[in-house]
Amino acid sequence: MTDFVDFFSDTKTRPTPAMRAVMAAADVGDERAGEDPSVNRLVERCSALLGKPAALFLPSGTMCNEIALAVHCRPGDEVICDRTSHLIGFEGGGPAALAGVMLNPLAGERGRFDAAQLAAALRPDRPYAPRQRLVEVEQTANLGGGTIWPLAQLQAVAAAARGHGLLTHMDGARLLNAVVATGVSAADYARDFDSVWIDFSKGLGAPGGAVLAGSAEFVREANRLKLRWGGAMRQSGIIAAACDYALDHHVAGLAQDHANAAALARGIAQIEGLAVDLASVETNLVYFAVVRPDFDAPRLCEALLERGVRMGEMGPRTVRAVTHLDVDAAAVDKALAALRALLG
Ligand SMILES: *Cc1c(COP(=O)(O)O)cnc(C)c1O
Repeated sequence: MTDFVDFFSDTKTRPTPAMRAVMAAADVGDERAGEDPSVNRLVERCSALLGKPAALFLPSGTMCNEIALAVHCRPGDEVICDRTSHLIGFEGGGPAALAGVMLNPLAGERGRFDAAQLAAALRPDRPYAPRQRLVEVEQTANLGGGTIWPLAQLQAVAAAARGHGLLTHMDGARLLNAVVATGVSAADYARDFDSVWIDFSKGLGAPGGAVLAGSAEFVREANRLKLRWGGAMRQSGIIAAACDYALDHHVAGLAQDHANAAALARGIAQIEGLAVDLASVETNLVYFAVVRPDFDAPRLCEALLERGVRMGEMGPRTVRAVTHLDVDAAAVDKALAALRALLG
């Protein structure tokens, strides 16, 4: 299966030989004791990148979200987020199990809600109502289609939250995709948010790692939970070095991922039996519909797999294809040829 192409997720990237060389040579120490120089360097760098006073290295983005909810909220509190948010569908019920919070899902537009929708969801302070505590956004919005929250919309939502005494959290699993697509800095996107994180295991191509940032006090409490929940590692500089390498070498390449996604979407739009909203493809995620009645998403994905192309079924008629470091323009051509052969 040497020419197998994997559009299932941008988590499918494997560390490049150059990244592995940097990992092998990394300075390491006991991370848990704050003695890993590679981790410390990465955390300082991300703190500056995200414009926050402090930051913390964690094994995964899921842990960033779950720790942030638990630091910001008390059990019984309500978190307001989009109905498509990763918190709801992909974190094993963690918000309920770990932070004990209620989620109030808003019906945003492709994963993004606006200040008016947030205002409409705000509750008066009543003893019988859940205490609203936190507003969460995803930049970019994964199930929204990799859509980018415009800066002004983020600012308006954050202002509405603050005006009601709520805290704000940004899931920035793909924040750097938004940065590369728009030229707005990560610090500007995150400015009005109390906490924010980026993931290194998605389009950045590292084997793992995420950095959660916020105030010094927030990060102190987050670190307490990191230790409690077993997220502290030892010589994790080996991973941090890969993350650092990714910041140097893999950020600009996200633009190529976006171009590849756009090309894939344009090709899909021309195939009868498939439907895609080209305007919805803003970054590296392509969601398309199988509209031909004699086909559906599971069958299409299975047939693609037989032709060496993996995509993800996201619903009975919805398929997701994700571009990343390990799929190039030729892989896009191969995927389109397979789709044409199946549906043509
Ligand atoms: C992947 C993802 C996460 C979780 O990150 P992991 O590193 O896989 O735990 C959270 N939010 C969004 C939007 C994601 O796409």
